[in-house]
Amino acid sequence: MHHQPSRLIVRDALVVTLDAKDSVYDPGDVLIEDGVIVAVGTVEDEAAEGCDRVIDGAGRLLVPGLVNAHTHSPNNMVQGTADGLSHPAYMWITQAYTANRTPREHYVSAMLGCIQMLLTGTTAALDHFPGQTFTAEDVDAVISAYRDAGMRAALGLRFYDSGFDDIAPRGATLSKDVAADLERLNPLKPMPLADYGALAADAISRWHGAEGRLKVFPAPSNPERCTDEALVLCAELADGHDLGMHTHLLESRVQAEIAQEKYGCTMVRHMADLGVLNRRWSFAHTVWVDDDDIELLARSGAVVVHNPESNMKIGAGTAPVPAMKARGVRLALGTDGAGTNDNLIMHEALRLAAMLHRPQAASRADWLMARDVLAMATAGGAAALLADDDIGAIEAGRRADLVLYRLDAPWWVPVNDVMNQLVFAENGSSVDTVMVDGRVLVEGGRITAFDADAILAEARPMMEANLERNAELLGLARHMADLFS
Ligand SMILES: [Zn+2]
Repeated sequence: MHHQPSRLIVRDALVVTLDAKDSVYDPGDVLIEDGVIVAVGTVEDEAAEGCDRVIDGAGRLLVPGLVNAHTHSPNNMVQGTADGLSHPAYMWITQAYTANRTPREHYVSAMLGCIQMLLTGTTAALDHFPGQTFTAEDVDAVISAYRDAGMRAALGLRFYDSGFDDIAPRGATLSKDVAADLERLNPLKPMPLADYGALAADAISRWHGAEGRLKVFPAPSNPERCTDEALVLCAELADGHDLGMHTHLLESRVQAEIAQEKYGCTMVRHMADLGVLNRRWSFAHTVWVDDDDIELLARSGAVVVHNPESNMKIGAGTAPVPAMKARGVRLALGTDGAGTNDNLIMHEALRLAAMLHRPQAASRADWLMARDVLAMATAGGAAALLADDDIGAIEAGRRADLVLYRLDAPWWVPVNDVMNQLVFAENGSSVDTVMVDGRVLVEGGRITAFDADAILAEARPMMEANLERNAELLGLARHMADLFS
């Protein structure tokens, strides 16, 4: 049994609430009861009586936990495996590193991500899982990791019931041998929609709402890799169970071309015409969109999840984030998987999101400022998780997903502008204490909620075993990757 204090107070911290008024308390107290923030500001001694625990916040900064709104837990073991790869080349190579995993490997890989995120100030994640087809046991394994780690998470059950046209070598004919290998080894065979519907319904019934912080979302790999029936099924599941939906959208240029060929219009327009474009969606990337798409996205209330590091690393393009912001598209922030990044440190994504768009901007008025990207990583991520009222700010009534940073790191001395330094100076290494739902998971910069060292030890030899299992597939993947410049 985890010991969960029912009453907890953080005293005398520099509290940056990120609430609607941008309230800052210096010093400030935050009182938490049964995982919910009940008072912020100055809490009198009488009100704080009976606390199971008092956390001294002096010399520390308290902010809402960051939300990583797009990541892939199977990739948490593949960092460093891909440089110089375009999107399709990367997609082939990464199959050899992530396919044919056991449920235990899925669990350990997800736990690795939890360790990394918690230690660097991220308290919630949207995990687009997995890359290939999956079983109920795989779902149980990965969501158990978030349960055991104590993180807040939405598991997007990733699938495709149509082809991966965007990574098919267009115009090239495959030799007979390669075509035969592809038929035999390709881990990207579509999942029949009926099978997905049954798996998703089962996962939702068993896990959605578990622990009060775990969610299950339908999650096409990419809408183009799905039939219209599949998109409609996702929308129906989401409406019926009050779920979010998640997908990659228009990450690469060829995906925009395929949409025109397939639908005679853009992917966003097609989803709108199909009646499935709504505020339940969060869309990772959303790079290759036009003005009309941006208008549709803004009106729909859908959330766009910007992944600046991933987009740069595989040369996918630059998402028109300032234009989307100007039009009122809701925005969140993600790291993407560790194959295209190669870590899950949201502080890097924050800083890059703020800086990436500046050289192309016509005016300084279009720049994303520190407060803008912090909003993406907190309230925006909350919107992607359909948890708008629950997390994203330090405010009475919200869940206590909070992070304390030590202010003795040299880049915090002196504190000139707390938000600017949080975005442009901090790198995640000053994280001292992390709680989710008022439960302390990290203390003194160490994971205290579970045995992180045991997970690291178990993870170390796993990739070697994985690659041994997928040796043939790696050969094929390298051949396929070579077909793309
Ligand atoms: Zn992704």
